[in-house]
Amino acid sequence: MSGQSGLLAAGLDGKRLDDIEVVDVHQHYGRCFQFNMPHRDAADLLAEMDRIGIDKSIVSSFRALAGDPVPGNQEVLEVCRQHPDRFRMYFVVNPHYASRLDQLFAPFRESPFLAGLKIHAEIHQCPLASDAYRWAWRTAAELHCPALVHIYPPRDLEAVPVLADEYPDTNFLIAHHFGPENLDRALPLIEDKRNVHVDTCISALPLGTMERLVAELGPERVLFGTDMPYLNAGGQVGKVLLAQLDDETKKKILAGNAKRLFQHRL
Ligand SMILES: [Zn+2]
Repeated sequence: MSGQSGLLAAGLDGKRLDDIEVVDVHQHYGRCFQFNMPHRDAADLLAEMDRIGIDKSIVSSFRALAGDPVPGNQEVLEVCRQHPDRFRMYFVVNPHYASRLDQLFAPFRESPFLAGLKIHAEIHQCPLASDAYRWAWRTAAELHCPALVHIYPPRDLEAVPVLADEYPDTNFLIAHHFGPENLDRALPLIEDKRNVHVDTCISALPLGTMERLVAELGPERVLFGTDMPYLNAGGQVGKVLLAQLDDETKKKILAGNAKRLFQHRL
């Protein structure tokens, strides 16, 4: 026993989080095109979710990210259909298909499994400020589905507050909270942008970063993500459980903020 209480003790003791709700807003599915990852099908993701106590995850397709958006997005929709209580999907927006996005999105627009849009400005090598993304910002606002946005800093940092002002009804969820090395520049840019949120997943998190995100953005704008299967879910949840934050704040990060941001889509 750790001698601690609450979620800190659960983290120190490695307990499964059975007593609270946990939503993972950043997960990937399928065969990664960058390097081998052993955990890639739904059963692998579910086994890890069950080990930790993650109730529900929002996943995006590696295949769609890699440049094959039709079968990629479709395969994740199928996973959601097979596990409706556990998975929701991000529709991956490929800016290189900008003229066809309405057509590509049509099968997903009305789906009860659609939770949000996924933008990866680094993999797609397209600046966030590009007009090719305007469809995504408009659609996210129109359908009330947040956009999980992986930016390429420092190129894209300045674009985030500009877009947040230009699209006030679009909820931007910045993957990896801009990266810890960019926080000094990024946080002042978005501190008053209420429609910009961050997720927690990152491979290495400097001590105190979680507390800093909450202090500077408020407890409502920080959302738990694992980035599975790139990253190990245990380490990612541990960063939240072991942070010097009260349990109410940790519960907001682990599920409450996601439920508020994604609303009926979760
Ligand atoms: Zn990711």
